[in-house]
Amino acid sequence: MSSLKALQKFKPNNNLVEEIQGLIDGTISLHWVKAHIGVAGNEVADKAAKEATIRPTVDLHLGIPERSFKTRIRSLLLKEWHERWNRDDAKGRYTFSIFPKVSTKRCIDSHLLSQVTTNHGLYPHYLKRFNLRESNCRFGEDANEGIQHYIYWCPLLDSCSSIIRPGVSIGQILQDKNKIKEFKSILNFLYNHQQDIFEQESVDRP
Ligand SMILES: [Zn+2]
Repeated sequence: MSSLKALQKFKPNNNLVEEIQGLIDGTISLHWVKAHIGVAGNEVADKAAKEATIRPTVDLHLGIPERSFKTRIRSLLLKEWHERWNRDDAKGRYTFSIFPKVSTKRCIDSHLLSQVTTNHGLYPHYLKRFNLRESNCRFGEDANEGIQHYIYWCPLLDSCSSIIRPGVSIGQILQDKNKIKEFKSILNFLYNHQQDIFEQESVDRP
């Protein structure tokens, strides 16, 4: 349909449209047809389009410089990404609470940091959700909490933190070298002392 509209334009900004306009005379009329139902002309056009994708160069003028085209595509993609990220029913709402805006420049390059930004890791809430393990921290107060219990509140890890306190957001931790360092040492401690921190898994699980 958009192709038919483009062909109606008096002054097309695309050489291909112009070329087709030149081929149409009074004996030809154009109509929309349903695709992929065996209309001969449509099948031929599909085949030609497929063949065009393997050509080494593009001989289609877009009407705007390539650079502007790329910028435009990039901004459309960002807009689409942001709209999807903003949807309440989208996945990753925990991560959304830390990064409400999408960014192509953000890079989480440590597996420990990616755990805190996804809440996926060695935390009862996550382990239970995926039926990996049924155990709480020995303090027994974190049944439904995720990583936040360990970095802010768990008395068993209290000795590891001095600058990360409740009230310091995950976003703030990620922006501060010293807080990142402390955060990593808390998680490393958690990993290395699992048997002291988590309750023993119950043997007679149903
Ligand atoms: Zn605890």
